[in-house]
Amino acid sequence: MLNRRQFAASAAALLAAPALLRAQTMWRNYPFSLGIASGDPAPDGFVIWTRLAPDPLEPHGGMGMGAMPVKWEVAGDERFQSMVAQGEAQARPELAHSVHVEVTGLQPDRPYWYRFEAGGERTIRGRARTLPDPASAPQALRFGVAGCQNFEDGLYTAYRHLAREDLAFVFHYGDYIYEYRGDPLRPQHWTGDVFVPVRQHAGQLLFSIDDYRRRYAQYKADADLQRAHAAHAFFTTFDDHEVDNNWVAAIDHRDTPPEVFRLRRAAAFQAWYEHMPVRRASFPNAAAIQAYRSARFGNLAELNFLDTRQYRSDQPCDDGFKPVCADVRSAEATMLGAEQEAWLARNLQRRDVRWNCLAQQVMMMSVDRRRSPNEAPARIMNMDTWAAYEGPRQRLFARLRGLDNVVVLTGDEHQNWAGLLHDDRDRPIAAEFVSTSISSGGDGQNLRPGSDTILANNPQLKFVNDQRGYLTCDVTPDAWRTNFMVVDRVSTPDGALSKRATLAVPHGQVDLLSS
Ligand code: FE
Ligand code: CA
Repeated sequence: MLNRRQFAASAAALLAAPALLRAQTMWRNYPFSLGIASGDPAPDGFVIWTRLAPDPLEPHGGMGMGAMPVKWEVAGDERFQSMVAQGEAQARPELAHSVHVEVTGLQPDRPYWYRFEAGGERTIRGRARTLPDPASAPQALRFGVAGCQNFEDGLYTAYRHLAREDLAFVFHYGDYIYEYRGDPLRPQHWTGDVFVPVRQHAGQLLFSIDDYRRRYAQYKADADLQRAHAAHAFFTTFDDHEVDNNWVAAIDHRDTPPEVFRLRRAAAFQAWYEHMPVRRASFPNAAAIQAYRSARFGNLAELNFLDTRQYRSDQPCDDGFKPVCADVRSAEATMLGAEQEAWLARNLQRRDVRWNCLAQQVMMMSVDRRRSPNEAPARIMNMDTWAAYEGPRQRLFARLRGLDNVVVLTGDEHQNWAGLLHDDRDRPIAAEFVSTSISSGGDGQNLRPGSDTILANNPQLKFVNDQRGYLTCDVTPDAWRTNFMVVDRVSTPDGALSKRATLAVPHGQVDLLSS
């Protein structure tokens, strides 16, 4: 055994050892515990992301308060023999030692591989595809849709399966984290039954930037989530739980004064930026963040990624699942805010693209939520969805009418749904695919109790399913096919994947066919 003096002497010897040995001893723990990610692909590049966090749940991820250089490399092959770009970025304490590199100068429509290195430790390799040239005419696009990943509700097995898919990119519709405290038992929100969390959130309800950082760290330490990020570039957006349940604009549901809630929102936005592979254009600016944006896959598809939280007017009828009240028809209501609405209107006028996709967060179909014929005398609606904002919803439908190439992608419901959007004269306007959750809601089943009533009361609904999973979309010039991929369980490891259904929209028709 060493006494203290001998130990000090051997520590000094170690410090004097060659560089290679010093590099091996620089970190107590592996610093890339939160994995790597790529995002916002373009024809000439994408963003690559990592964060140094040797102790992910400790303050500042276990990092000291200095900046630290992180080397990055992008190659045209998975063995990094043909290096195409490399450099060094600073991981700064102001941004939780995260690194966002916007890689440019790459070739369109091909895979690249990337990795990071800091203090003698290296990440695994990630893969990202660039988008095709905007003037090209691709004949096929396959991409994934995922979101709603409550850590307590289930394992991320669906992400492990998603990582194995051959995809151009993944659209994430939000609820990347949930702000709730850790609870050993709680009531299942739609039945009131006891729900036993599969694993537990560390900490209390989130308010400060350190709270949000720690929650992202807990989620991002998950190996299946890391696999999905390493396999595909993501277009990430946010919904409510990145900040607070059902927040809109500067309003929460606790009657917090707006100027006070904005402080919490600013902390949540900064932590979102720090942990997402997004561009500098989405850098948090005071209490706001620019998250709506678009991407173009040659002339085959335009994707409009919406922000349905930040500019929205308050939910009508006191929010929640409620009978319809007059405010649902308010002409003053807004879902996107004037600027985003005008931006979307301009994008929808484009005639040089085969499919126009609205990739967004909350359901656009108007669904009567009554689960039994005797539950209530009048329609019950989810006041957090587009259906409770009929003014802006019909304004949007007026712009979609006659376009015959629009597909809406949605999350939030924690169930799979597919159906047609009808305007106020009951004319079909577009198809909507609602993706289930990665884990939120737990194991699930084919149909929730009461789904037969919902299907009978809502003829525009063509498909409902209550299992966890993700979507893959197969897009060609002639048809948009959406595959509902589900896992049989998320409460125990190794849930099996199956394709629950495929529904198709033929180009030029507002219709939804089983295929
Ligand atoms: Fe959710
Ligand atoms: Ca949500």
